[in-house]
Amino acid sequence: MQKSKISKIQNETKKLLIYLNKEYLRLHAAYENYFWISYMGDHSIDKKKDTALKELDTFKSNHKLFDQVKILIENNKLTKEDKEKLNAWTKFFNCYQTPKHLNILKDKISKLETKMGKVATTRKEGYIDPHSNKFVEASSHKMRGMLRTEKDENLRKAFFLGGEKLAYSNIKNYVKYVGLLNQYAIGLGFADFYEYKIFTEEGMTKNELFKIFDHLYKKTKFAFTSIRKLEKKIPGLRKPWNFSYMMAGDFTMEEDQYFPFEEALIRWGKSFAALGIDFRGSSINLDLLDRKGKYSNGFCHWPVPIHYKDGKRITGLSNFTCNVVYGQVGSAVPGYNTLFHEGGHAAHLLNSEQTEVCLNHEYPPMSTAWAETHSMFLDTLYSSYEWRSRYAKNQKGEIYPFELFKRKIERLSILRPLGLNSIMAICNFEKIVYEEKKLTTDKVIKAAKKIWKKYQDYSEDSLRILTVPHIYSWSSTCSYHGYGLAELALTQWREYFYDKYGYIVDNPKVGEEMARVWKLGASKNFKDFVKIMTGKKLSANAWLKNTTKSLPQILKLAKDRALRLKKVPQLNGPIKLNAKIRMLSGKKNITDNSKSFEDMASKYAVWLKTKRIK
Ligand SMILES: [Zn+2]
Repeated sequence: MQKSKISKIQNETKKLLIYLNKEYLRLHAAYENYFWISYMGDHSIDKKKDTALKELDTFKSNHKLFDQVKILIENNKLTKEDKEKLNAWTKFFNCYQTPKHLNILKDKISKLETKMGKVATTRKEGYIDPHSNKFVEASSHKMRGMLRTEKDENLRKAFFLGGEKLAYSNIKNYVKYVGLLNQYAIGLGFADFYEYKIFTEEGMTKNELFKIFDHLYKKTKFAFTSIRKLEKKIPGLRKPWNFSYMMAGDFTMEEDQYFPFEEALIRWGKSFAALGIDFRGSSINLDLLDRKGKYSNGFCHWPVPIHYKDGKRITGLSNFTCNVVYGQVGSAVPGYNTLFHEGGHAAHLLNSEQTEVCLNHEYPPMSTAWAETHSMFLDTLYSSYEWRSRYAKNQKGEIYPFELFKRKIERLSILRPLGLNSIMAICNFEKIVYEEKKLTTDKVIKAAKKIWKKYQDYSEDSLRILTVPHIYSWSSTCSYHGYGLAELALTQWREYFYDKYGYIVDNPKVGEEMARVWKLGASKNFKDFVKIMTGKKLSANAWLKNTTKSLPQILKLAKDRALRLKKVPQLNGPIKLNAKIRMLSGKKNITDNSKSFEDMASKYAVWLKTKRIK
């Protein structure tokens, strides 16, 4: 009697788990496929995308399923393994429970989001040429790139103003949007949407977060004084259309030769392979060039996350993208950055070994900070002098010179302490607008200007914050702190690796340790994960120590690390990432790695030549 009762409960649990995994995977994949098509520029399916999202949201907020999980979990006849699986779903459903009356609101929010997305991708982007007085069409990416390298100040100012204009294109919608999101959060018992977001994603309070950020601001704001001093030698430095150009413009141009975009794939593949990164048989689609209508920010999504069928691990599919303007000076570097960053996201979740599919994607219960820790850790790899001393070569085969690194650090080291300021600015801006009881477009503009001024200290106001795409989308709004927390965690991780192994680039031990935590998917919260990965509690110490190093210290360290790397053998033989990779441009399939990674990279390079801007 007793025995059959146990097996009945166990059967019921098994059945429910199979259903949850299968149904969630189906709904997730349906939505993510439309999402990719829409974000790559075909908006004809937007209605279908919205419907798919609604179905997905209905599943996520399903009370009945949640109740079933809760009832089963209380039964003490369950195996430990099944209990853990049910726990994962409890965590998942907890993130999305929506009272019925809020479902209509959620639907309204996603429609408004789609509307804003359409405005942003179909608006006329460009600037008024100060010489001809004519409007010249140019994407926001192109303008931002040219802002860094254009010699003519009048033109730079025109690009800046062209970018500023874009801040207004969704401003009325944005006010409405913030109101709806707040209404949603209040409906769930939170004070505002920011509080709701940080609690569900990171298990943190606003207080905890902004205490860390305020501490960092206070500890690093001395750098503004150094910049104001420098302005006396470089008049006009603090004008927003001058700052990056005058600080780093010539470096952008000088460095460009060491980052030919046609070499990006090979260098990325080699570095990942040398770290021992293994995609474990999964598929990856890459769409790397800027196009009209395409979403204007890099991202990585997983239409098919890792999942299990009959106890067997099934490989996933991940798509990632960026907006390289091929042939534009300085545009390849962000392209390299994307391969490491989004490629890092892809590697992270395609390595998961969690049986429950809800722990294997980027949405809650996954922590944004945790996800970003891995992608940003991998982009610090490529941006380090250590990596450059081995991989960054120009057409003549000359390696990125230490002398260039030295000059760059000498000029830019005064900015290092401010490295988190643009992130903290966006978070503080969102904190203000979501806490505002009666938000208006004027208040949004005022807050955007005030905060940008506080965190950038430019001599003119700017609405740059309003052109950051993250603030217009449910999944990324009020989540920008994830990048800041990740920066702290990854610096702590780098310190840990250097202490333990003495080097990071091309170190398979580093890859091994990464894979060990990647297996865990979203099974823990951010703070616990940091402890597991570095053996220490999350703190800002490593970050502050690193960014406030003296100039001689930075130079010596870079030299030592490059020297250490010389002793490490380079990857020999073919690049093997154990992934099926396709290179796409919208719906066009350009090439793939079915023959070899090297073959794909060379075919892609040939195709790139046809896309070079004049
Ligand atoms: Zn990211």
